[in-house]
Amino acid sequence: MQYEGTVIRPPSEAHSIIFQVTVGCSHNRCAFCGAYRDKRFRIKNHTEILQDIDFAAQYCRRQKTVFLADGDALVIPQTQMMKLLKCIRKNLPWVRRVSLYGNCRDILARTTRQLNELKKLGLGRIYMGLESGHDPTLSAIKKGATAEEMIRAGRRVRKAGIFLSASCLLGVAGSIAAKGIAHAEATAMALNRMQPSQIAILTLMLLDNTPLAAMAGQGRFALPDRQQLFSELRVLIAGLEGFRAQVQANHASNYFSIDGRLPRDKEKFLATIDHALSGTIHLKPEYLRTL
Ligand code: SF4
Repeated sequence: MQYEGTVIRPPSEAHSIIFQVTVGCSHNRCAFCGAYRDKRFRIKNHTEILQDIDFAAQYCRRQKTVFLADGDALVIPQTQMMKLLKCIRKNLPWVRRVSLYGNCRDILARTTRQLNELKKLGLGRIYMGLESGHDPTLSAIKKGATAEEMIRAGRRVRKAGIFLSASCLLGVAGSIAAKGIAHAEATAMALNRMQPSQIAILTLMLLDNTPLAAMAGQGRFALPDRQQLFSELRVLIAGLEGFRAQVQANHASNYFSIDGRLPRDKEKFLATIDHALSGTIHLKPEYLRTL
């Protein structure tokens, strides 16, 4: 496989064949994200990708899922994406699902019908970084989309019959408690309207190579303390209603884990968070946290 730089994939793609079909992220402006700062964005050409597919056809017969990296593979134009999915299907007929990161802009650039065409060719899952449903926060972190656009994008993915995983970021509104709570409330409302199949909750960490870390160095941004982070999580979970979804707050950045289903496990989640707030559960030590 030909990988350029560090390749990142969601935790649930740990066993997938990873094809790096794009290098970097075409947006690359989110203030908290340091994943692709050193990569110049490009879409790999079909010949390069074909070599990796040929390799996988020989050596990856036991892996049943494929993940297309890097940061927003859905930026690949529709015709080219269809050709790629057909090629995966033809050469790796045992693969039962293809997944990728898709940002709001690239989802909204497609109609429901176009997304459904991709679904029929094997695209089974889109991971979308919502981060927040709070417009002032989305604007401050330069996410490049409003909450309303995110909701529209998420609903379109669901309407096309594709599994939607939406990720949210605790702490991204900063250390002012009222802002953090507004972020959590608005995020819950956005998720209620979007109705994703999976909600992934991460906790912000400041990475040295990001604008947010630079702002923190200048005193223009501060991370919330743990109590505030747990309060945000409580407000977020308490506000989720009216749909079924997997909820996973078991990422390496989180101080403790939540993993289950809504609505079934909601009360259990809230009890766990209350234990965290009252200091009666074990929290991950700082040195074990990673983004
Ligand atoms: S968070 Fe996603 S969209 Fe934003 S810069 Fe990072 S990879 Fe790109």
